[in-house]
Amino acid sequence: MNPNNPKADIRTNWSLAEINAIYQKPLLELIFEAATVHRQYHSGSEVQVCTLLSVKTGGCPEDCAYCPQAARYHTDVQVQALLPAETVLLAAQNAKAAGSTRFCMGAAWRQVRDNRDFDRVLDMVKQVNALGLEVCCTLGMLNEYQAQRLQEAGLYAYNHNLDTSGEHYEKIITTRTYEDRLETLAHVRQAGLRVCSGGIIGLGETEADRIEMLHVLSNLAEHPESVPVNALVPVKGTPLENQPRVSVWEMLRMIATARILMPRTIVRLSAGRTEMSLPEQALCFLAGANSIFAGDKLLTTPNPGLNQDQLMFQLLGLAPRPAFKSEEVATSSVQQPVVI
Ligand code: SF4
Repeated sequence: MNPNNPKADIRTNWSLAEINAIYQKPLLELIFEAATVHRQYHSGSEVQVCTLLSVKTGGCPEDCAYCPQAARYHTDVQVQALLPAETVLLAAQNAKAAGSTRFCMGAAWRQVRDNRDFDRVLDMVKQVNALGLEVCCTLGMLNEYQAQRLQEAGLYAYNHNLDTSGEHYEKIITTRTYEDRLETLAHVRQAGLRVCSGGIIGLGETEADRIEMLHVLSNLAEHPESVPVNALVPVKGTPLENQPRVSVWEMLRMIATARILMPRTIVRLSAGRTEMSLPEQALCFLAGANSIFAGDKLLTTPNPGLNQDQLMFQLLGLAPRPAFKSEEVATSSVQQPVVI
């Protein structure tokens, strides 16, 4: 990395062939290369802890084949109307006290509408922002004006995952298009918000689909500041309930390739972590993951509990990444007390 201009060697012109060559490297070589890049742009021992709260659950009109919140599937998810702001604020205070520096609010909406519920979300954003947390929302599609209103309320980032490749997307979701997805990401960027966008592996996609998704993300005019990498957690009642679980080796390839392509980005080890042993999670951090979600639920799917994560941080000598840390500055590996 050029220390005088950390952006100088950030590329947004990766070819599919180049990405394929990286993705297909012998695994240990791939991890070593990713770990090397990771240490040029981030502290190797810092991991951001985030909390994701479902502020409106279930009853969604969309048909995402992996999602238990889609109204059309018969799952155990209980529909929950938009939570009161006090409940959300309390959850954010508890998340902060437990060591989270980023608080993400998810609503099972197809898109944001200019109504009272959106006004209530804007109020939640203001209140959580005032706690000194990075505030993120995932509310479905939005237009530029809505993105602007979120930005003015104090939103730090907006999550909108690409999920998979454009071609495979049509087999997973029919109620909106890949172009809709990219349009929302453009509105988020235009409003000056940080972009959080990643995907899910294990949706029946090929390796070429995974590479294609990484190609789209890494060739955006500006890389997303945040890329969640999820492994499908198949849920009974959804069309993908019988999908086989992905292996940790596949997660490692995704994480390491994302790290090499998008060196400044925070790569988030997201859904599917419950299935991983501690050594497997450690390998993911070595391969360039530098964020986890805390708490025993990720929206509606299970997640390792806080105590387990505290033990993991102690054992691996990890330190929580502070809020609002610049993605551009290479950091020292100064240890901080482990409080997550
Ligand atoms: S992933 Fe989001 S948009 Fe798709 S069904 Fe679930 S809540 Fe709705």
